[in-house]
Amino acid sequence: MPKLFGTSGVRGIINEDFTPETALRLARALATSLENSGTIVIGKDPRTSSDLIEDIITSGLLAGGCSVKKLGVVPTSVVGFAARNLGADAGIMITASHNPPEYNGVKFFDSSGMAYTPDKELEIEEIYFEERFESVEWSEIKDVSSTTILREYMQDISKVVDVDKKFKVVVDCANGAASQVTPYLLEGLGCEVITLNSQLDGTFPGRPPEPVKENLQELCKIVKSTAADVGLAHDGDGDRIAAADENGHVVEGDKLLALASAYAVQKFGGKIVTTIDASKVVDEQVIEAGSEVVRTKVGDVSVAQEMESQEANFGGEPSGTWICGDVHLCPDGPLAGIRILEMIDDSGKTLSELVDGVSSYPVCRAKIDCPNKEKEKVMQSVEEQAPQVFGDIVEKLTLDGLRLEFEDGAWLLVRPSGTEPYIRVTAEADDEDRAKSLVGEAKQLLQ
Ligand code: MG
Repeated sequence: MPKLFGTSGVRGIINEDFTPETALRLARALATSLENSGTIVIGKDPRTSSDLIEDIITSGLLAGGCSVKKLGVVPTSVVGFAARNLGADAGIMITASHNPPEYNGVKFFDSSGMAYTPDKELEIEEIYFEERFESVEWSEIKDVSSTTILREYMQDISKVVDVDKKFKVVVDCANGAASQVTPYLLEGLGCEVITLNSQLDGTFPGRPPEPVKENLQELCKIVKSTAADVGLAHDGDGDRIAAADENGHVVEGDKLLALASAYAVQKFGGKIVTTIDASKVVDEQVIEAGSEVVRTKVGDVSVAQEMESQEANFGGEPSGTWICGDVHLCPDGPLAGIRILEMIDDSGKTLSELVDGVSSYPVCRAKIDCPNKEKEKVMQSVEEQAPQVFGDIVEKLTLDGLRLEFEDGAWLLVRPSGTEPYIRVTAEADDEDRAKSLVGEAKQLLQ
């Protein structure tokens, strides 16, 4: 059976590989899996194709006997929040996250507000490909309503942070869904807010929606020129967070995650969940704070699942997708943003001072061409030959590709791309030569 769901929902270029037909079939499959009853909440990001997808999904759900509550343009976290707080049976977010504007897609959430797990996605895929869609009689067709839950959401997440300092914050929402939330949330906490790219616009005219360093130069400039305390940035659907310090430097994702993880240990206790591609600075900070790190496959769904089974209070990916388990198991950019402020406030330091306390290790990356159908065989042989090639391995993780940890603290990850015909290699070590040589040896082995 072909795969429909990637690491974070179904995505593609609109009207090319993500078509109205795909969306309709997905909605009908969801309604069928819910035994043709129940309420679904739907949110969307501001992409130009989001209305199109919302309408067709709504029709599919109605045909399948579900009622629909439309949330309008909201960050992804609000769909998770609404699914749980409105007692819905599932939630759908229409978004392609940080992808360019020509993309769109959907992400499903369960009644607790957690993203659909691979098992649940498989159930949807089976119905989808076997075309086992069930429809209801005319008298069973339910209704559509609109509901606003943003105020409740903002009140609830404001309650879980304690921010006394009146921060001056520059916030860059990429013209995405968080434009509706983060500036107001910050104002509610008494911050002086300067907005950038915070009007909804699905063409993302301000900057590409991925909140990475090269796309945040304008934010950095404004933080510096306005003498702000911090800059915050989101992706298109507002489930990611990035930050710039008071000197206008973007904080590396691994370091920000490490700081937030240590802060979560201090505040809530419990283990921290992160993905196999995260830096060892996360382990260092978490161990120093008195806890330990549990690694999962790449993807926020894996992080959420592991957090649930470990009863962890915090987890995240270096990309800035954080899950604050004290509120919910849905990645939440606005909440992550105000938690950063709380962390800075609590430390009595500036963000750059906090970042200075985290070690820096060189990371080396490479990608090697590999046809999708060869990946499994190649990975198998890499795993078999790794002990001879790399020697002093102290830990081997095979939950997503192959991650090797070495006696000197270096680690190497060999992982097939989930979507492209590549195998990616990443190494981190105390010095650059060691990282480079690990990647070199892995490349040679792969070739
Ligand atoms: Mg996103």
